[in-house]
Amino acid sequence: MTDPRLVLATHNRHKLGELRAILHPALPGLDLEAVVTAGDLGVSDPREDGVTFEENALIKARAVARATGLPAVADDSGLAVDVLGGAPGIFSARWAGRHGDDKANLDLLLAQLADIEEPHRGARFVCAAALVTPDGVEVVEHGALVGTLAAAPRGRNGFGYDPVLVPLGDTRTCAELAPDEKNAISHRGQAFRALVPAVTRALGG
Ligand code: IMP
Repeated sequence: MTDPRLVLATHNRHKLGELRAILHPALPGLDLEAVVTAGDLGVSDPREDGVTFEENALIKARAVARATGLPAVADDSGLAVDVLGGAPGIFSARWAGRHGDDKANLDLLLAQLADIEEPHRGARFVCAAALVTPDGVEVVEHGALVGTLAAAPRGRNGFGYDPVLVPLGDTRTCAELAPDEKNAISHRGQAFRALVPAVTRALGG
């Protein structure tokens, strides 16, 4: 019988919460207990040496599928700022030098953009979501959340650059949105919802 488990190849607790909230309504047959993380199964992170979001998502999902023998999904995501030519991009998590230091990353970005006026503060969150199965199926989907960067951080929800990205059509930053509101429009929500049919097939549905 097919093992009904799905492994999420992330160690980021915020992302994990978002992924569970996104996948659960989209996969009503999927028991939340069956969604485990690479960390739960003792699998450590591979070296992310890809140069695109898609490559890094595939690197993570492949490593976890290989180590666990289970279908694995991974995302790679970040912030692309227009005036910085798409940076921080794949370097978003370590823009200030130390991986995962959200506050330092945000402070550095705001300092870099201090003289840039509103019409030129366009940016987007982008996400590549990958599914890799142990028998070699590989599917990648993409999502983007387009907006502008606020001059100073606002809001307490979310993580990373959420306190500065104001989605187009809104006046609030992503950190001022309720989690459900963010998931409904987010880059990660779009990419993972697009991945659901492939995940359903991988789980034997
Ligand atoms: P990853 O974990 O290697 O995919 O790195 C993602 C990094 O991009 C995070 O550390 C954040 O800095 C940023 N990022 C990605 N998605 C989001 C989001 O939804 N909100 C805020 N920051 C994000």
